[in-house]
Amino acid sequence: MKAYSPYSRFLSWMLVVFLATSPCLEARVEPTHGFDLFSQDEEIQLGKQNAAQVMQQMPVLPDSDPVVQYVQRLGARLAERAPGYKWPYNFHVVNVKDINAFALPGGPVFVNLGTIQAADNEAQLAGVMSHEISHVVQRHGTRAASKQMGAQLPIAILGGVMGNSTLAKAAEMGISFGVGSYFLKNSRQSESEADLLGTDIMYDSGYEPQQMAVFFAKLEKQMGASANSMINQFLSDHPNPGNRAEAVNAEVKTLMPRTYLPDSADFKDIKTRVTGMTPLTSEQVAAMQKQGSVPNGVVQPGSDVTPSPNLKVFTHNEYQISYPENWQVFGDQSSNVTIAPRGGVSQNAVAYGLMIANYQPETSGTNLDNATNELLATIKQSNPEMKQIGRAEVIRVNGVSGKSVDLIGVSPIKDPQGKALAERDWLVTLPRRDGTLLYLIFICPDKDFGSMRPAFEAMLRSTQLR
Ligand SMILES: [Zn+2]
Repeated sequence: MKAYSPYSRFLSWMLVVFLATSPCLEARVEPTHGFDLFSQDEEIQLGKQNAAQVMQQMPVLPDSDPVVQYVQRLGARLAERAPGYKWPYNFHVVNVKDINAFALPGGPVFVNLGTIQAADNEAQLAGVMSHEISHVVQRHGTRAASKQMGAQLPIAILGGVMGNSTLAKAAEMGISFGVGSYFLKNSRQSESEADLLGTDIMYDSGYEPQQMAVFFAKLEKQMGASANSMINQFLSDHPNPGNRAEAVNAEVKTLMPRTYLPDSADFKDIKTRVTGMTPLTSEQVAAMQKQGSVPNGVVQPGSDVTPSPNLKVFTHNEYQISYPENWQVFGDQSSNVTIAPRGGVSQNAVAYGLMIANYQPETSGTNLDNATNELLATIKQSNPEMKQIGRAEVIRVNGVSGKSVDLIGVSPIKDPQGKALAERDWLVTLPRRDGTLLYLIFICPDKDFGSMRPAFEAMLRSTQLR
């Protein structure tokens, strides 16, 4: 029953006014917490160290550049609205054409110039930056690294010996957040968290949150249409958690309707400026690195590449697999995974190892042959140099009938003359009950395929869909 006194009317009227003028009263997404071995100070220090490394390896524009100053102003406005611990956020622009952005633990955010060139409006750029800020809020990088360290070290060592020296231990274990680090590759869970927090940050800063999803969708569409490897990196570091736009819309619905800011004059100026700029391509950056002006990313295969005959089990939400105990799992039970020796991976390139991922065929209900062909086309789009050898063969893996395809590509390993070695990529696709494919790509230089094959086959034989 409703009480109809003028007093309660007045109260509810007051409440409406109060709500309309104080959006802060509405619920906001709370940052999640998880197992993290790093203290906040260590996290900040780790981010600083790695930011210094990025500055050496990448063509980062000076702070005096007007584009950088604009990005820093926009970043500061967004960071002010970030929930949780007040990390010392700082913003940088990398003079590279590829559409990418990444955040390091504890605050440094890097945005490629190509991202600013590709943004149709200020809200889209604010969206990418809010998303990156949210990865910092959520400590996604150090949480992923902690998981990796926890998996490798006995609890006693984690608790005791590590104590104050998490940073030293991390360094010893080769955990780094530098350019192309595996810990910058986010799981779908991390992605949906960053999307939701990012939505609130955008809303609270006055930018239309849906533009974040629009920008991501635009990149996906462009990637599908043109196989632009420039976009691949961003989408592989920030994979679509599924229904990105719907999730953003649902979160916006919990907030009061509001009008959003139009593009600022500042943004329009910067947009004109960046349109006239010619940032470096990743090939040019690689050439610079080769000349020694920045350290190069050539993989030097270490002694740990040779697979140990002793196997360890990794259990993913979708499968279980055994792998050589001297190799490592990069990723977790809900993400795409690379299993490789530490010396077989560099700068996002796998020279020796196995990548396992899921593929959703574009045509639902399609058969294994067509789904495999679709996947092959996608792989060749992002690796145009890759060639199929022979035909796809039927292969049985623990009672599941899949397809096996051999490919030849270009290895990240170079011969002494600086020429890239030929690479063997052995693709196996397995159909899952939900209509998607689980696929495995075993990778090594072609000359080593004979010696690596027994280990690859042992891993494949152990693979069980769940
Ligand atoms: Zn992300």
